[in-house]
Amino acid sequence: MEEQLIIIGTGPAGYTAAIYAARANLAPLVFTGSQIGGQLTTTTEIENFPGFPEGIMGPDLMVNMSMQAEKFGARYAYEDVLSVTQEACSGLFVVTSNGGAYKAKAVIVATGATARYLGLPGEKELIGHGLTACATCDGAFYRGMPVCVVGGGDSACEEASFLTRFASKVYLVHRRGELRASKSMQKRVLDDPKIEPLWFSTPVAYKTDGSGELESVTLADTRTGEQRPLEVKCVFMAIGHSPNSAFLGDLVERDSAGFIVTQGGSSHTKTPGLFAAGDVADPVYRQAISAAGMGCRAALDAERYLIEQA
Ligand code: NAP
Repeated sequence: MEEQLIIIGTGPAGYTAAIYAARANLAPLVFTGSQIGGQLTTTTEIENFPGFPEGIMGPDLMVNMSMQAEKFGARYAYEDVLSVTQEACSGLFVVTSNGGAYKAKAVIVATGATARYLGLPGEKELIGHGLTACATCDGAFYRGMPVCVVGGGDSACEEASFLTRFASKVYLVHRRGELRASKSMQKRVLDDPKIEPLWFSTPVAYKTDGSGELESVTLADTRTGEQRPLEVKCVFMAIGHSPNSAFLGDLVERDSAGFIVTQGGSSHTKTPGLFAAGDVADPVYRQAISAAGMGCRAALDAERYLIEQA
């Protein structure tokens, strides 16, 4: 069977695209991926999404969006997309997932971004044993213990602030002498007696105990190179995200960081019929609301494209 429109991803961009496309009677097939609802399902309260003066929990917002899209006729495939190609003869897109191959006239890519790690030796094995990129998921395991957060952006500050609910002490390890985070977020963190910033510091090695759990992290001074151990039970990595665009092969143009380049401020990629929205195509704003706006635009662009092709 041939789909009109396939949407890949279920963050705010994917769900918003699904709501608009479904309301335009395109009955989009939406691939959820393994992290259904995307990055916002790993956050707590969202205070800056318009329409919720009391704030809303990230997972609740995503469930609401999902139900809203389904109400208008969006369908979900609970599968991970592995690749997208285009048939030379028909121009149809072939979306291959871990569940099969699907054909569509148009595709919206809204696959977001994945948390970055430092790439230090032993890092992969340590994930889940004292190394994580999600305070909401793992913070409660470290009740009464010292932990650290790496990074100086809004995410790092948000994670550090959240972790004060559980940890005995939260070190904020940052490679420079000032934070990148918004002023309000900086104030919240720097005023908190439970959070201690460690300026000009970056992890260079992890030390584990006999059972493979993190015991300490070695920090290097980014100015002098001098090293010292910091005893923490968990390192929460918050050094940004990498866009999930590799599975698209040559169908899209990417910038040096892997973000999809779109044409003239629209959602069109270099391949007609293939659209991009949200964090995967946004190296600058990366907000839930800006991703939702991009999802809306992608659905409108896709709808117009399909009408022109008919
Ligand atoms: P970000 O703003 O890109 O910050 C990444 C931080 O990690 C920076 O402080 C950076 O240091 C540091 N870093 C990067 N690579 C590193 C490395 N290899 N070693 C050590 N440190 C490294 O990322 P983010 O905090 O995830 O935020 C992403 C976007 O989402 C931003 O636009 C942010 O405003 C937004 N956001 C908003 C909220 C909110 O409004 N509630 C919450 C979270 C995120 P430098 O500063 O030295 O570059």
